[in-house]
Amino acid sequence: MGAIAAGLQAGRKRIARACHVAGRQAGTVTLLAVSKTFPEEDVRAAHAAGQFAFGESYLQEALVKQESLADLPLEWHFIGPIQSNKTRPIAEHFSWVHGVDRLKIAQRLSEARPQALPPLNICIQINVSGEISKHGVDPSAAILLAQEVVSLPRLRLRGFMAIPKPCSDIEQQRGQFAPLRKLLAQARDMNLDTLSMGMSDDLEAAIMEGATLVRIGTAIFGRRSYSCE
Ligand SMILES: *Cc1c(COP(=O)(O)O)cnc(C)c1O
Repeated sequence: MGAIAAGLQAGRKRIARACHVAGRQAGTVTLLAVSKTFPEEDVRAAHAAGQFAFGESYLQEALVKQESLADLPLEWHFIGPIQSNKTRPIAEHFSWVHGVDRLKIAQRLSEARPQALPPLNICIQINVSGEISKHGVDPSAAILLAQEVVSLPRLRLRGFMAIPKPCSDIEQQRGQFAPLRKLLAQARDMNLDTLSMGMSDDLEAAIMEGATLVRIGTAIFGRRSYSCE
């Protein structure tokens, strides 16, 4: 078995074990393979090992990769920071956008989503680490933003996403994910179904706090030679 197939298998095992510990059904957590910085061949290897959903953070890189992989039935998620002048290509080339944190961005995605495609799936990014992060909406403002986004055409609001500051203590990790669990409960009447949280180093804590989609890069593809931010 190749390294990527082995990484995927290990990732799936970690997810299944964490679901078991959390008392959740296996299969309630989707694995998003984060392929940013990795070449087309690595995505092909992951697909050959049964992976369909891939996450990318850099638009230019993603568009080139998508074109060379157009022969495969893949589902693409944009997980990077969104510049407002890049909303059109994002709305045209992805199934999901995870980092929406302003109404303006959601409106532009809504206007640019082609009629021929199904609604664009959206997660609202929550700032769970306070002043050290410039991305994400404050938890106290999240429900209001969700109410505005949910009414936009061509979008389907699915839930919330977070990128907490790295820490190695699992209780601290859980503490950073907990606000999203509360938000999902508060937004009950909006029919949301997604908490996009957990990466290679904290997916167990995220699953304990209700993650339904974990975004895993390093544990599948190996170390990136340049960092994401
Ligand atoms: C890079 C990235 C990931 C993957 O992180 P790993 O630690 O490599 O698993 C997940 N989510 C986002 C938003 C990222 O930018």
